[in-house]
Amino acid sequence: MKEGWKELPIGAIIKEAGSSIKFETGDWRTRKPVLNKEKCINCLFCWVFCPDSSIIVENGEMKGFLYSHCKGCGICAEECPVKAIEMVKEEV
Ligand code: SF4
Ligand code: SF4
Repeated sequence: MKEGWKELPIGAIIKEAGSSIKFETGDWRTRKPVLNKEKCINCLFCWVFCPDSSIIVENGEMKGFLYSHCKGCGICAEECPVKAIEMVKEEV
C-alpha cells in the first residue's frame, strides 16, 4: 500500500512562541540521504543545491551529511549526476 500523509510520524509540536530554537530541521526528517562513495565523483552539485547547507565537504571532497540539519528533502539525490545518493526511510 502506498503511504499517505496520515501515515507520517509526528515530528514536533510547537507549544510556545519562539520554541523553534529548541528544534533542528533534522528532527522531523522522514527520509535521509545515504552516500555511495563508490559512485561519487566529487562534483559537489549536492553541496550547491542543498537548501540547508547539510553537505559536509572537506578538502574539496564530499564526505557525507550533517544529519542534525538535513530535512530529507531529497534535492541532493535528484541533482546528483551519477545517482550516488539514495533516499532511505528513517526508522522511528
Ligand atoms: S552530487 Fe553526487 S557525485 Fe557530486 S559530490 Fe554530490 S554525491 Fe558526489
Ligand atoms: S536531503 Fe535535502 S537537506 Fe538533506 S542533504 Fe540532501 S538536499 Fe540537503
